[in-house]
Amino acid sequence: MTHPPLRAVLETVAPYKPSDGVHDPAARPRPLSANESPHTPLPGIVEAIAAAGAGVNRYPDPGCGELIRALARAHGVTEDRIAVGAGSVALLQTLFQAVADPGAQAVYAWPSFEVYPTLAALAGVESVQVPLAGETHDLAAMTDRITDRTRLVVVCNPNNPTGTAVDPEELRKFLGSVPPTCLVAVDEAYHEYVRGPAAASALPLCAGHPNLVVLRTFSKAYGLAGLRTGYLVGDPRVVEGLRKAALPYAVNSVAQRAAVAALGLEDRLLRRVDETVAERARVRDALLRAGWEVPDSQANFLWLRLGEDAAAFGAWCASHGVAVRAFPGTGVRVSIGSAEDDDRFLAAADAWRSPERMPRAGREDRA
Ligand SMILES: *Cc1c(COP(=O)(O)O)cnc(C)c1O
Repeated sequence: MTHPPLRAVLETVAPYKPSDGVHDPAARPRPLSANESPHTPLPGIVEAIAAAGAGVNRYPDPGCGELIRALARAHGVTEDRIAVGAGSVALLQTLFQAVADPGAQAVYAWPSFEVYPTLAALAGVESVQVPLAGETHDLAAMTDRITDRTRLVVVCNPNNPTGTAVDPEELRKFLGSVPPTCLVAVDEAYHEYVRGPAAASALPLCAGHPNLVVLRTFSKAYGLAGLRTGYLVGDPRVVEGLRKAALPYAVNSVAQRAAVAALGLEDRLLRRVDETVAERARVRDALLRAGWEVPDSQANFLWLRLGEDAAAFGAWCASHGVAVRAFPGTGVRVSIGSAEDDDRFLAAADAWRSPERMPRAGREDRA
């Protein structure tokens, strides 16, 4: 049988695999693999979804007018600086496509958000991956890798999967070092979870840097992962180009209404984020006390750099009823969920380090 040939690059792209065991409905593992909010939507959001559902015989507003007006108000910017997409990954895809002239390169850290290499490959953009320094972006090394072929630099801040945030002053300096002809995308999917000195967003820097775009999402802190809505703030000329490059009607009407409702309930949603931040400290402290190495996370997940043990620990957690995200050969990312789900994970982690499973390591720990 002859099959129509698809692009060779598809042979090199790995399918997106959200977690170990999560697609086995019988297993129903604790969902700590996708960095979702553990909270179901507030009543006001459920009502907005139901109301929008009554009108889905019509196409959505292709310009996302109401949502863009609400976002412009929330961020104190003009509406022509905002683009909305079906999840921020759709905007990332549009960004990669929008810079994909022959020979174009994109610079980003590694390990970082796993969709970047896929989107680059599909767009025909060459990836230049700059190793993290420890668990954090090495902005100086990234500057060194920028050439006249670099059309896009992505800074995932805080970084998925390591959870670390860059120093705002270093990011500001980094922006000054990028040629104005190269776009810089700061992916702030986890911004709402950042505390302390790193909590400054790159958003205010957009005014002085027409090559800067900042990506945000409703999927994490706002709890709308299932509806797929994200947005980007940037220079009006860049935004105009990206709006042209996106599919029409990509953001559905239910998602638009729900996102507007979520912005109206921001105070309550951000209090839920405070709970997750407190839970993050509780889980990390418990792991540190048990002897794990856990970098300080500014996101709604923790990173365990397990190297060669990563895949085995991911499978171990799945067999203990917890879905985590294993990156074979590198580490395991564990979302912060409900206290009950997190306790189940801590129990699995304790069992992994028990003297029965690891007789030698157990003895050393107790020596
Ligand atoms: C979760 C996540 C997103 C959000 O993706 P959506 O498409 O908006 O759901 C974007 N960037 C990073 C780094 C993420 O981890």
